[in-house]
Amino acid sequence: MTAAPPPLYAVYGASGCGRSIMPLAREQLARQGVPPERLVFVDDGATAPVVNGQRVLGFQAFLQAPASTRHAVLAIADGQVRARLAARCAAAGVQAWTVAAANVVRMDDVVLGEGAALSPFVTLTSNIRIGRHFHANLYSYVEHDCVIGDYVTFAPGVCCNGNVVIEDHAYIGTGAVIRQGRPGAPLVIGRGAVVGMGAVVTRSVAAATTVAGNPARLLAPKE
Ligand code: UDP
Repeated sequence: MTAAPPPLYAVYGASGCGRSIMPLAREQLARQGVPPERLVFVDDGATAPVVNGQRVLGFQAFLQAPASTRHAVLAIADGQVRARLAARCAAAGVQAWTVAAANVVRMDDVVLGEGAALSPFVTLTSNIRIGRHFHANLYSYVEHDCVIGDYVTFAPGVCCNGNVVIEDHAYIGTGAVIRQGRPGAPLVIGRGAVVGMGAVVTRSVAAATTVAGNPARLLAPKE
């Protein structure tokens, strides 16, 4: 009897985001005794066969490579693209894979949805709920009692204080600070909202709007 081929793991996206997540994925697998040959980039627009020492496959090649199971972390900062690729992966039997740096701090009662990518120095404090395919980039934190939806993206250094609700597909830019909400009266960042880099968010942000500055104000939509 021939042994079943081992699982195959992928970092989906071989650009900036993917190249930052790949070393974390490699280290995570090494801690589990999985050799680096079982880890690839998947990219639909690949221009090189190898990036930073790791093979790059198209999606079909990834599906055809011998493997008992397939796992992918979606390493693309655009949450809408992650949603599309999550559906594609699910339809093809590719399992959502969470990759987290070894020094990520998770405190009590953190519920983290599938497929997260947590960069070095991220802290998730206590009593937090986070949806699917969350990205938390370098040094970001989520404080107590926050509720974060699906496909939410934190650029580096996001300070998300306690009792904040962030709805699906919101994007929080580098170094943004979100003021603490109150129990029963959270500060809410609406669905698909964008918070500009360095913003100091003192009030709730409506869905599908962009805010920036200190204190953060609505940016007028382009004509
Ligand atoms: N990409 C892909 N499939 C898609 C959309 C994007 O493989 O449906 C790849 C794309 O080819 C590129 C990467 O994802 O290599 C996205 O790179 P980009 O620099 O736009 O974003 P970032 O890495 O900063 O999130």
